[in-house]
Amino acid sequence: MESRLTPYQASPLIECKEAIVFAPHPDDEALGCGGLLSAYKAAGIPASAVLVTSGDYGEHGKAGTDVRENETRQAATILGLNNVVFWKEKDRSVAVDERTIMAARDAIVQSNADLILTPSINEIHPDHRATAWIVIEAARRLVNEGRELRVAQYEIGAPLTRVDVLVDITAHEKNKRDAIAVYHSQLSISAFDEFIFALNRFRTYTLPAHIKFAEAYNLITPQLLHHPESLCEAEIMRQERLALSDIAVPSAYLFPTHKEPKGILNSLFKSFRGFKN
Ligand SMILES: [Zn+2]
Repeated sequence: MESRLTPYQASPLIECKEAIVFAPHPDDEALGCGGLLSAYKAAGIPASAVLVTSGDYGEHGKAGTDVRENETRQAATILGLNNVVFWKEKDRSVAVDERTIMAARDAIVQSNADLILTPSINEIHPDHRATAWIVIEAARRLVNEGRELRVAQYEIGAPLTRVDVLVDITAHEKNKRDAIAVYHSQLSISAFDEFIFALNRFRTYTLPAHIKFAEAYNLITPQLLHHPESLCEAEIMRQERLALSDIAVPSAYLFPTHKEPKGILNSLFKSFRGFKN
């Protein structure tokens, strides 16, 4: 029953024809999905990156954008990225607006990617959350136009609360470490490599012992993108959708609409029941 809450099996990668990763700052792509990108490199699956800012704010920007962009290019070579675009948005000021949404849409279309990697909407840093909403909205519009694509949210500063895929990165540990190691300007500020590998180690909690490191992802399917309100669905509704009946939730925690859905909420409620991640 609990395997409906989190995977108990690891995946070698997330299947796709091509992937594009949106990184709010130089190093987020390596920290968040360096293992998965290494797996794509090994499997010959093309991947590219959009760097939303070049990390010019405060202590993190002390080295200068040239240094941080150069570090990104070095990491991109290690991770096998075939293209890196720098948007040069202002650090700590990334806006979710029509301009950035259309820029993300264009980047996805030009790349021909059917898997879009983004930080999660639950991240801490405002640029991380802004990037997530820009990417999700761009993907939603493309799905509405008939494109088949999925969005995978990755974790950096805040662990995902909902995990759909655990990618076994044990074989790619060294490559991911090498990619992170080029970011001298950031590692001199904080031990980001240690934080992220501690998280990747923890992600094997539900996996067989021979798996030493895993990256967690939350998958947003086209079906979910057609019902964006479901991205912030209540946990109880989620459990109803999963038919998770091993625990009886006290009635005080149930929405009135959950007990007796009516009107528009009734149809919304019913629509959740059909979803599968
Ligand atoms: Zn960042």
